[in-house]
Amino acid sequence: MKRALYWFREDLRLLDNPALTAMVEQADEAIFAFVIPNSDQWSRSEDRMGLHRSRFMMESLMDLDRDLQERGNQLMLLHGNPAESIVKTAKQWECEAVFSQSCHTEEELQSTKDVAVLIPHHTVEGVTLIHPDDLPFSVEDLPEIFSRFRNKVEKRGLDIREELPIPHLPPPPAGVSRSPITLELPERLVGLPDNTMSFTGGAKDGWERLQHYFWGSQSLSEYKQTRNGMLGWDYSSKFSPWLAWGCLSARSIYYAIRRYEEDEGANDSTYWLIFELLWRDYFRFVSMQHGKQIWRATGLKEAPRNPVSHHPLQWKAWCTGNTRSAFVNANMHELRLTGFMSNRGRQNVASYAVHDLGLDWRACAAWFEHWLIDYDPCSNTGNWLYVSGIGNDPRPQRKFDVDWQAERYDPMGAFQSHWNRLGEVFPLDPNKVP
Ligand SMILES: Cc1cc2nc3c(=O)[nH]c(=O)nc-3n(C[C@H](O)[C@H](O)[C@H](O)COP(=O)(O)OP(=O)(O)OC[C@H]3O[C@@H](n4cnc5c(N)ncnc54)[C@H](O)[C@@H]3O)c2cc1C
Repeated sequence: MKRALYWFREDLRLLDNPALTAMVEQADEAIFAFVIPNSDQWSRSEDRMGLHRSRFMMESLMDLDRDLQERGNQLMLLHGNPAESIVKTAKQWECEAVFSQSCHTEEELQSTKDVAVLIPHHTVEGVTLIHPDDLPFSVEDLPEIFSRFRNKVEKRGLDIREELPIPHLPPPPAGVSRSPITLELPERLVGLPDNTMSFTGGAKDGWERLQHYFWGSQSLSEYKQTRNGMLGWDYSSKFSPWLAWGCLSARSIYYAIRRYEEDEGANDSTYWLIFELLWRDYFRFVSMQHGKQIWRATGLKEAPRNPVSHHPLQWKAWCTGNTRSAFVNANMHELRLTGFMSNRGRQNVASYAVHDLGLDWRACAAWFEHWLIDYDPCSNTGNWLYVSGIGNDPRPQRKFDVDWQAERYDPMGAFQSHWNRLGEVFPLDPNKVP
């Protein structure tokens, strides 16, 4: 094939990128593009992204562009309707086909189809640790409960495909301007303590984080004991933003864990990180299995599990961190001020929202989408459904006693006083809550 367009979507990387490798094997020349949608109809539009995620995306795009420039090509940044922008650019540069990593959620699938109507569009799986074709069952027959999924997968032995090297990239067609991308990054909040977590997008920083968490601090060897922590950088891997944007692949992380185990020894903790990556896979497969159903008010069930009042005052209190629970409030401040919240925090604020305040899980999930740097449509929705009791969970209720949880996971109140104080310094105007 003379020329192809590669469309970067949830895969902002060159290493271990199966769709990119497939394109490179076929095309003599290539255009590389990413679209920032111009309407809130699409999940990567700026209207649906808070400043933290938007900044992380821009940093990731500039890092990707640097990687492409070093290899003689470059990234084209397009703005508009994703499918229309891709088709228009592909036709303008006389590309014979478009290649991209497979996406699995409604809006993304629609854009995939819209492109395919007008130009050959080859999609290749690359998000999950286990390739969907390597599961011991078809995605339609995915077990309804995570533990059954995990048992079946583990029983057969984890069969993970090889990590793909960065391929030799084809050049751009003559006439493509080769100026590097410069984006105006949204400012970080000024005035937060120096030790506040702040993520930088791009594969380079993702690998630095991995190097630190594995060989630098060797925190991986204690992950199983520390993963329920709430304050600081190293209680958990913090890989989620780089995974969500595809700067790191789950497979690359898997093979790095195996290398670490050879160097430092395997234990329950090194395995537990792989176990968590299986949760990520599971929610992806659930989305593939159920399609649009995952967005319904009743989720994967026929009826809701608890009454939904969605009172506007309760909603604003939850979003702004002004509920009766100091523990919930602290987590909500952390989310808004940093773009991150621990897994323990997420479970608690989600349970409190749905089971104590009667909020609509879909509005809460959209609030998470806005603020989380690591927003992933499948992991976010899957977890919200799970906590709400309308997803893949055999238990009818997954209600957390947030006071008990605060005692257990923040016994000295250090986390709560830290974030509640900062919440007072940087309050959110309730009128800015949708
Ligand atoms: C209500 C709610 C919403 C969530 N929304 C998201 C989201 O939008 N994006 C997202 O990546 N995660 C989401 N999670 C899952 C989890 O909280 C985060 O993945 C985790 O806190 C990220 O921190 P980490 O990278 O340090 O995780 P670690 O504990 O170090 O785990 C390593 C990786 O495993 C995966 N993982 C771990 N736990 C889960 C889980 N429960 N579900 C899916 N994957 C998991 C993530 O990719 C994570 O980076 C949500 C959880 C809840 C309860």
